[in-house]
Amino acid sequence: MPTSGPVVGPLSARASTILVVEDEPVINQAVTDRLRGSGYDVVQAWDGPAAVARFSETAPDLVLLDVMLPGFDGHEVCRRIQAQRPVPVLMLTARDDEADILVGLGVGADDYLTKPFRMRELVARVAALLRRVERAAELASHPTSDLGDLRLDAAARRVFVAGDEVHLTPTEFDLLVCLAAKPGVVLTREHLYAEVWGWPGASGTRTVDSHVKALRAKIGAERVRTVHGVGYALEPVTDS
Ligand code: CA
Repeated sequence: MPTSGPVVGPLSARASTILVVEDEPVINQAVTDRLRGSGYDVVQAWDGPAAVARFSETAPDLVLLDVMLPGFDGHEVCRRIQAQRPVPVLMLTARDDEADILVGLGVGADDYLTKPFRMRELVARVAALLRRVERAAELASHPTSDLGDLRLDAAARRVFVAGDEVHLTPTEFDLLVCLAAKPGVVLTREHLYAEVWGWPGASGTRTVDSHVKALRAKIGAERVRTVHGVGYALEPVTDS
């Protein structure tokens, strides 16, 4: 892992609120203490149903979500909270559990961190995800752009394919904006991960692949060219 990461800690004057969902009391408290020490407000939950209830009550800015939980698991929590309101979710998964990682990314998690993790990395990843949300607001000054029959309205965060609106998750939208900035150019998975997720780790390739897969399913596979083992390019397509 890189030794120099993004600046750690909240950037805005208002402290972001983070919901920590973890059934291991020691881990939950250690994460909570560390995040509070970094200036965040933290709300805790120890099982699936409580996580969903706390999410509704406290409207957190980000959710740290363990997968294996009593009640129902982290994937079900993610489905339920994303259905309420789009929110950045960082999943905490067992090391090398590929199935867990892919399911988590498929139900709306933005990224994942494998256990055991270092607190320093956890805080950096939280800061990177929150910064991405802040950056999305800056896109409001960008004009609408057209690539073939794909129309991207960055200000309104809306996407149209051949005139029909396509609904993307916030992460899928940011990924599309990044690809659309350089149409036809192959962007590496590492570059996309650093740009969109705001974290320069090389461990994000599965995260990128999973979100590109979802994006292709929504806007049409032919619009995103895959260069295996390298990266992706957005291709202008015009249906005729
Ligand atoms: Ca657990």
